[in-house]
Amino acid sequence: MTDFYATVFGAGPSGLSIANALSKKGKSVLLIDPYVSENAPGAPAGLVNPATGRRAKLSWRSRECFDALNRHLDELEQFADDGAQPIISRSGVIRPAINEKLADNFLESLEKYDWPKGWIRWMKRDEVTACNPEIAPNHGALYLNNGFTVFADRYLNTYRKFLRNKGVECRYEEASYQFNENSRTFSISIQEEHYSSEHIIIAAGFNAPSFKDWDYLPLHLVKGQIVHFEADEDLSWHHAVSSMGYALRRGKRELVVGSTYEHKFEGLNTTDDAYQRIADKLANMLPNISKRVKKIGQVAGIRVTTPNKLPVIGRHREIDNLCIYTAMGSKGLLFSEYTASLLADHLADNTAMPDELGTDRFHK
Ligand SMILES: Cc1cc2nc3c(=O)[nH]c(=O)nc-3n(C[C@H](O)[C@H](O)[C@H](O)COP(=O)(O)OP(=O)(O)OC[C@H]3O[C@@H](n4cnc5c(N)ncnc54)[C@H](O)[C@@H]3O)c2cc1C
Repeated sequence: MTDFYATVFGAGPSGLSIANALSKKGKSVLLIDPYVSENAPGAPAGLVNPATGRRAKLSWRSRECFDALNRHLDELEQFADDGAQPIISRSGVIRPAINEKLADNFLESLEKYDWPKGWIRWMKRDEVTACNPEIAPNHGALYLNNGFTVFADRYLNTYRKFLRNKGVECRYEEASYQFNENSRTFSISIQEEHYSSEHIIIAAGFNAPSFKDWDYLPLHLVKGQIVHFEADEDLSWHHAVSSMGYALRRGKRELVVGSTYEHKFEGLNTTDDAYQRIADKLANMLPNISKRVKKIGQVAGIRVTTPNKLPVIGRHREIDNLCIYTAMGSKGLLFSEYTASLLADHLADNTAMPDELGTDRFHK
């Protein structure tokens, strides 16, 4: 009998969600992350939007992902203090077609995908203006009723507290693991303390490849930066705006605008070049507002992706109780609750992982 059923390395969206999914199944979990806390700074906002990219493609298993995420958010909001700042804003997403090509793509998306009822509709130009007069001249817009903004820093900190409250052992410290061939279990060391664990789950985001057991995966790292702005007066709308870039509302005057996709980069620093590209995105989407904001912050992070642009979740090719849970790309907020339930079912109940997510696709 081990001290823990699973030890999860990484307390970002992936690590938190798998710790939660296993804990819900009554499994004991040790959660490790030396770089965060329950009051950690982080991205001020992120977007949950099922119509992705310039083609507004319906995202992977979106209905299941939304159902899982919404159930989780209801629980998390109930847990959060009444007086605390909100962790999400369910205010929808407008995707204005600010050029003809986008309009063609967006209209095609309405026909091409099997959108669940009530999720999406077309807004004519007049309606866009009535809804938000600051939006740039456009050919109409998609409106995603169920899209929303997550205040990512508050969300993650609240989630960490929630898990600790549920009995997950949360340690914001360096730790290492060793595999014991004889018992086929793991020893976990946190400074002078030692624990045993039946499973290890690496959910360390862009640091996953630094765990040498996983250096065979073809993970691709894409740096991204966002800029946090404050307007000179209160803003009159609440929805997210997403066109070729996005602008998310926070508080009365703040806008979080993103993001860059940097395939070649040298470090996690923020850059003036990225700032300029993001300021240009804001000017393209909300031209008048862009003249009335000042920068109050800039954040850089790294997305992990795979060749099929879907997460990689499953067991190691040789040590089958060592698992990976990463490569959420730009959809960590939307995917992580549902995909965690798949991995938890796989580990605890031996269900199969979908082929398109599993590690087997890299073992063949
Ligand atoms: C600029 C930008 C904008 C984005 N916008 C959005 C958005 O609008 N919507 C959206 O859904 N997604 C967005 N994303 C993507 C989203 O951030 C990721 O999908 C998500 O963070 C992935 O979660 P994760 O837990 O797998 O990885 P991460 O969030 O990277 O978390 C990994 C965790 O592992 C920890 N860790 C690292 N090394 C170790 C170690 N050795 N031991 C233990 N822990 C370790 C880290 O401290 C971190 O907390 C954006 C990303 C960027 C960069």
